Formats: sequence, C-alpha cells, structure tokens
Amino acid sequence: MASMTVRTRFAPSPTGFIHLGNLRSALYPWAFARKMKGDFILRIEDTDQERSSQEAVDVIIEGMRWLGLDIDEGPIYQMQRMDRYREVIAQMLKNGLAYYCYMSEEELNALRDAQMANKEKPRYNGFWRPETGKNLPAPPEGIKPVIRFKNPIGGSVIWQDAVKGQIEISNDELDDLVIARPDGTPTYNFCVVVDDLDMKITHVIRGDDHVNNTPRQINILKALGGVSPIYAHLPTVLNDQGEKMSKRNGAMSVRDYEREGYMPEAVLNYLARLGWSHGDAEIFTKEQFVEWFDLDHLGKSPAQHNPEKLLWLNHHYLQHGDAAEIAKRALPFAHNLGIKTEQGPDFVGVVNILKDRANTLIEIAEGARLFYMDAPEFSAADLEANVPVATHAPLADFITALQASDGSKAAVGAAFKEVLAKHGMKMPALAMPVRYAMFATTQTPAIDAVISLIGKEETIQRLQRSIKIS
Ligand code: GLU
Repeated sequence: MASMTVRTRFAPSPTGFIHLGNLRSALYPWAFARKMKGDFILRIEDTDQERSSQEAVDVIIEGMRWLGLDIDEGPIYQMQRMDRYREVIAQMLKNGLAYYCYMSEEELNALRDAQMANKEKPRYNGFWRPETGKNLPAPPEGIKPVIRFKNPIGGSVIWQDAVKGQIEISNDELDDLVIARPDGTPTYNFCVVVDDLDMKITHVIRGDDHVNNTPRQINILKALGGVSPIYAHLPTVLNDQGEKMSKRNGAMSVRDYEREGYMPEAVLNYLARLGWSHGDAEIFTKEQFVEWFDLDHLGKSPAQHNPEKLLWLNHHYLQHGDAAEIAKRALPFAHNLGIKTEQGPDFVGVVNILKDRANTLIEIAEGARLFYMDAPEFSAADLEANVPVATHAPLADFITALQASDGSKAAVGAAFKEVLAKHGMKMPALAMPVRYAMFATTQTPAIDAVISLIGKEETIQRLQRSIKIS
C-alpha cells in the first residue's frame, strides 16, 4: 500500500447546467492527486443519453481548463465503454455473481404495493435468485429479463468515510441491484464500479448525494475481486439563501464567471475554501492549496456559497496581481465594449492604475474607457459651470508647469503642488476643473497618474481648449 499511486477521478454527468458546486467536486480530487503526486482522471458519465449533452461536456472541460485543473487521463466517456461493461456482466453471469430476473413490471409493482401495505420497505424479493437447492421456474415467454447482482445476504457493508466517519449499512437493506436493463444496457451504479476498478481509483471523492450508492458499489466491487477505494463524501454546496444550488434558484453557470470578469485564481481559491480549510488561511495560491490539501480538513456540514466573498477575493487578486497579466485578460473585455486600446496610452499602464479599485475585469475595462475617448466637446454653459473663470489663471499656470515637466507622475504631482501653493488653493479646487476639462467628468482615478498616462501634450491641448487659449 505504501507505494501505491494515488488515483482520483472527477466523474460528472454532463446533464444540463454546470454550476460552481459541480466544479468543486473536480477541485478536491484534482488537488489530492497533485498533492500525492498521483493521477487525476476525468470520466464523463454520459449513459443517460437523453439528458447528457456535448455542450455540458464542453462547459465542464472548459471550466476545468480555465481553473487550471489539468487531467492525466481522459476524458473517458462511459458510452464508449459499453462493450467492457457487457463483458463484465457476461463474466458475472458465468461466475454466478449475477442472474437473469424475469419479474415483469406488473409483478414488481404488485410486490411493491403489498410490501407498502405491510409497512415494509419495498425491495425485490429474490424470486429469480438462484440458490443451491432452489428450483426456479422455467423463464416465462415474451419477457426480456433484467440482470441482477447477487448481493450478499446477512452481514453489513462498513467503510470509513474520510469525511463522514464510519458508515455501516446492513446487507438486508440492499436488494439485488439491477445491473443490466431488459435491452442489455448496463445501469449507472454498475458502470461506476467497473470504471473505478479498471481505472484503479484509490480515492473516490464525490458529492454526498452518492452515499446511498456506496454500499451497493462496494459489494459489487468486492464480488469482482476489487479492493475498496477510500471514499470521501463531500457535503453539498448551498446557495446564498441556504438552498441546494441550482439553475432554478439563480446559480450562475461556471462559464458566466469567466464572462463576468472573474479571475480563475480567485475562483479556485474561493472554491477551495468552500468545504475545506487550512487554519485561518483565506487567501492562498494554487500551489499552496495543493501543498496543504488533505482529506482530514474537509468540512462535515454543507458549505454556503457567498457571492460577496468571491467578489472580495476577485478584487484581492486584481489588486495584487501582475498588471501585464491582468491587462491580457482585461483586453478582450475592453474590446467588447468597443474601446480602441490601440489608440491611446499603454493598456498595461491603464490597467495598473485601475486594478486597485476594481472588483472584476469588466470594471477594469469600463474604467479604461476614459483613457481612449476623444477629447470631449462642451457647451459654453457646461464649461462655465465646471471650469469657472476663477480657475483659468491657476489652469494656465498648471499648463506652464506641465510644459516644463517631463510628464512623469511625480512631475505632474509636483506641478499641481506648485500651482496650489502659488494660488493658495486646495487640491480639489484645481483637480476638479482639470478632470472636467480633460474628460467631461470629475470621476477619475488619481489625476497625476491619469495625466502621465494620457501624456503631457494631449493634456495640455485639452486644458487649453477649456480655457480658450491656443
Ligand atoms: N456522475 C455522478 C454525478 O455527476 C458522480 C458519480 C461519482 O462520482 O461516483 O453526480
């Protein structure tokens, strides 16, 4: 066991909507595999052909790529493994581990009704189960049988769940599971077992909606000669209202986070904390996460999605991230808004002064608009109101000081100081008309930084126009 390679898997069903909670189920097995220098496998559980879609598969794969969850094997599609499942079923029939059951739909319903009337748990009664000394009737005509697994009788299934602790389920609770339908197609729980065995999965880390499947899966796995993997069943992720996350109650698709200008680092950091902790650490890199990740610190109660916290983390990653890298990601958003970033100041410089205050890449792109717009046109009344005559002399002095400066942020700052001192003014009294003259707004980031980016020539021209000097 000591030298065993850890192998984990993410086994999503690509049915419809993929939200953040779904991707968290990818993150933990990925992190565990990376931490243990093992392998991480992506298996697409697409046997429900009616509900599965290629679009959902794409969202899953893109989402994982976006977060940087690299896979070592896969995607492996269950639909492409049908022959293998059939082969195992044939072998099980041959070895007496499974049997044909000819009970019709009507008989099953009648059985269930009788059990319910007796206040018993509905379960298959083992009528067609072969036993030594038991005489089975001849198979009825015209009924296509299902194939059932011969679940052990008596005793119980016990496993040490890495999240939930010891779980014990009596075999009497488990009837003989249908492993192939009348048309021969294998059933879900059966495929999972064959896959986990064939893929040599050592740790099954998945949502706790599968806890009820686990004892059945363990029984089949053992019958096939396998060793039970370690199971870690993760509590669900609830939305911010405390309900199960779903499209119906407003969960966003994983894709939307990218579209709304979230940074993958922030989302990964956020998801990592949604059900796992490392002391009080709230902000950590992907590398730290992998280094720290363990199954012992997975949360036992449902985690609750907190959109504000995610936004706060996104802000943190923008504020502290590398401007060039953020600029690369913000650029498509700016182009989407029709901003011509080729005509105007260096985009990285622009991002650099916007990123401290932005929550998303979209906010950065919106903030960038100012730097690439044409010089504004004003009516005389607007100018009168925002660049009053009393400010013209200080503005003229500011122009002179700018002309003499090298245009750097520090030099622009010094030019402001000089003029403020000369006229006995406070910064806003000068900065507001400067902003307005340049952009027709008084809301801009730090004006010295803005001017040094726009450039001293362009600034001077705009200021001159507003006080009618040329
Ligand atoms: N396909 C299952 C799901 O999407 C996961 C099965 C598993 O992890 O064993 O919920």
